Amino acid sequence: MEPKNMKKFHINNLLHVFFPFRCLRCSEELIGAEKGLCAFCSEELLPLNYGPVFLDNLGPIPCYGLYRYEEQTAAQVLIHHLKYQNKREIGVDLGVNLAKSTPRSAWPQLLLPVPIASKKRWDRGYNQSECIAQGFSEFTRIPFCIKHVKRLRNSVSQTRLSKVNRLRNVEGAFTLVHPIPKEITHVGIVDDVITTGSTVLQIVNSLTFEHPHLQITIFAAAIAN
Ligand SMILES: [Zn+2]
Repeated sequence: MEPKNMKKFHINNLLHVFFPFRCLRCSEELIGAEKGLCAFCSEELLPLNYGPVFLDNLGPIPCYGLYRYEEQTAAQVLIHHLKYQNKREIGVDLGVNLAKSTPRSAWPQLLLPVPIASKKRWDRGYNQSECIAQGFSEFTRIPFCIKHVKRLRNSVSQTRLSKVNRLRNVEGAFTLVHPIPKEITHVGIVDDVITTGSTVLQIVNSLTFEHPHLQITIFAAAIAN
């Protein structure tokens, strides 16, 4: 273990003695390497490790998810704490595990986290999809970038956009503000939860509008249905 990590490890252990970490779901004290959920509650996570999922909305675009998302399940507890309880580290862990569960052949060259509205980001202090992208990036060394895709609706005044962007603002909530570099042929869109895929579809459309030949793969901590 590196000295920096060793120090972190000892501080964590010390903190643990005075403020025992508790399972986010059942409140039992966490032991050993348990993070977020105890071993018992982790057993209830439903891993999706059998390869890509294809959603009607997204056609042939493959989606890799870590867990199946359902209300009142352990995965929902994790996502809830990531989004609303300032537990960014859950996102980073989910990102690392998502990367580990994805075949290397599906890894893209660049990760694009789904942006959230700027007001939401301001209130929350972070974007949960960026936390997941960060973890994915830490494990794979694939860079992630937040400058390419911007969320428009309810966040950018129409008057500040060019005519073309104004038209696109009406069409979808996202726009590509910086083109993807030529050498990038495969990007990964990173989201926390995918339900119908209609949100990521808007990003897919804004990407393929500018880059018709771009290969796109979706990565999500959890996928519903
Ligand atoms: Zn538990």
